[in-house]
Amino acid sequence: MSKTETETREFHAEVRQLLDIVIHSLYKDREIFIRELISNASDALEKLRLTQLTENDVFEPDLSLEINITTDETARTITISDYGIGMTREELVENLGTIAHSGTKAFLEKIKDGGKPDVIGQFGVGFYSAYMAADRVEVFTHSWREDAEHLRWESDGASGYTIDQVEGQRRGARLVVHLKEEHAEFAKTTRVRGIIERYSNFVGFPVNLNGERVNTVDAIWLKSKNEVTEEQYKEFYQFAAHAMDDPRYTMHFAADAPLAINALLFVPGENAERFGLGPQPSGVGLYCRKVMIDPHPEGLLPEWLRFLRGVIDSEDLPLNIARESMQDSALVRKLNEVLTRRFLKFLDKQAKDDIEGYKEFYQRFSRFLKEGIVASPEHQELLAGLLRFNSSMTEGEDVTSLPDYVDRMKDGQEEIYFLVGASREAIEKGAFFEGFKARGLEVAFFTEGVDEYVLEGLREFKGKKLVAANRAGIELEELPEEGESLSEQETEDLVSWLNSALDGRVSRVDAGRRLVNHPMVALLPEEAPNAQMRAMMAAMGQDVPETKAKLEINPRHSLIKRLASIQDSQRELADKVAKQLTDHALLAAGLEISASDVSEGMTELLEKLLEDRE
Ligand code: ADP
Repeated sequence: MSKTETETREFHAEVRQLLDIVIHSLYKDREIFIRELISNASDALEKLRLTQLTENDVFEPDLSLEINITTDETARTITISDYGIGMTREELVENLGTIAHSGTKAFLEKIKDGGKPDVIGQFGVGFYSAYMAADRVEVFTHSWREDAEHLRWESDGASGYTIDQVEGQRRGARLVVHLKEEHAEFAKTTRVRGIIERYSNFVGFPVNLNGERVNTVDAIWLKSKNEVTEEQYKEFYQFAAHAMDDPRYTMHFAADAPLAINALLFVPGENAERFGLGPQPSGVGLYCRKVMIDPHPEGLLPEWLRFLRGVIDSEDLPLNIARESMQDSALVRKLNEVLTRRFLKFLDKQAKDDIEGYKEFYQRFSRFLKEGIVASPEHQELLAGLLRFNSSMTEGEDVTSLPDYVDRMKDGQEEIYFLVGASREAIEKGAFFEGFKARGLEVAFFTEGVDEYVLEGLREFKGKKLVAANRAGIELEELPEEGESLSEQETEDLVSWLNSALDGRVSRVDAGRRLVNHPMVALLPEEAPNAQMRAMMAAMGQDVPETKAKLEINPRHSLIKRLASIQDSQRELADKVAKQLTDHALLAAGLEISASDVSEGMTELLEKLLEDRE
């Protein structure tokens, strides 16, 4: 196709879906489309400013960095123009015809079904929000590259768009928003002025409306806390995060040593990743004395704090620092360390001051804390203190923490015990728990898939080893005898027979003190990878070491006593019973065993029993 012809293209499926949501279900704050377009203009100006630091040949280099908005009531339009970075033909297709975020499709489908407009705000409806009020949008643009075309992009926000060449467009972008009749209010100067005043005081460039400057750049992060109202924090959060909800937490602080830092950080109301959206880029911009250095600075905060939004301003940063060299500069590493520590301490205080509020945060964001435990050993202790869980000492839904667990530890208890299972009930009923319960030892209950991996990665808390209560090698003190036990000799005979009868299936059989109501339990050897690690190794195509459990029998259990009494006289039946008990113990321990083997064994056992009765 010749470049002078009109090029017609279809939107990607995700864009169509997003447009559908924008147009049909997202009218709560229709006015935010103006904020979104101004932010895009501001981003485009930032990018131009950064480009000018390194590029000599910039189209129309002397245009001033500002945003101009004009309204026309008769034509029913609002026009937003910037002298920013602009877009080439390819960039128009890439930026306005597709969505680059990972996991977008799944996310949009979920949102659509669940109707969660608050989260979609965080995702950033951005440019497409214009279609909340418009039935047609034109984008006139010229890229900063001198040899680029003068272009016009146009779409009615339905199936696709067109691109053609136009004459004389200045550098940057000019968006002409053709308003629907029922939204003609957005072509009225007073209405638009109100909206700009509300949202664009945080924009770092002049915003002019019909030739008159509206905003005063308000870097509220440089103010002290008592000069900023809740409402201003909220407005700034909504501006910085492109959000429509309220921030869940707001952390505003200034420090002079070891670095000069002004930080304003927000935890959003909702965790968008929970709705299927892939990992998000960092949403905390880096500034030096009000001037943006990088909107998505890599390495400024650890990856697992990517849910934070806001601003970090440090006077200590050299203004012209190149982004590439910044990533691994010692200064950024230091900032990272200080900020992370500060934020975790802030969370800890929130957790103590408002237990319910923290519970809500935890439900949505605990994944990130767990990710942090695995990824950042230097912050493990603080992160571990922020974990919440049920335990054998809490009632129902009540939660506790590791510091509280440690406070409650019995005299002489050296280890923190935990179990991971499907639910509190499932863990409480299982064989692993009963020995701890009988001795009044607290067991922390965890119910998420990742927990086993995270806790074993944590290893210890406040010098106390974290030990999975399903592992072999835990020394439990003797209980006052409960019920009659096999004699020492009988136990020894049974154990030695079992060791030969089960040879190869388990690493060894022993009599032990763990069990109360169960006859037998399979314990994971101390050094073996846990079930989750094995699954991960398998998924990564690594060789999974064969894991043979250690069996512990309960010499006080009636079944074990009966087994001892028939071990010589009815050898065939005893064999089948021992095998069946072992299968059940391995199954409960989550070790490899096929369900069909277990049921086959059961059939054989029942047959043998009925045969013996004939
Ligand atoms: P987001 O701003 O969250 O990336 P948008 O849908 O608002 O998403 O915009 C998509 C992309 O289009 C932007 O990332 C940017 O590359 C481009 N874009 C939007 N507005 C402008 C503009 N005024 N000037 C230059 N590029 C723009």
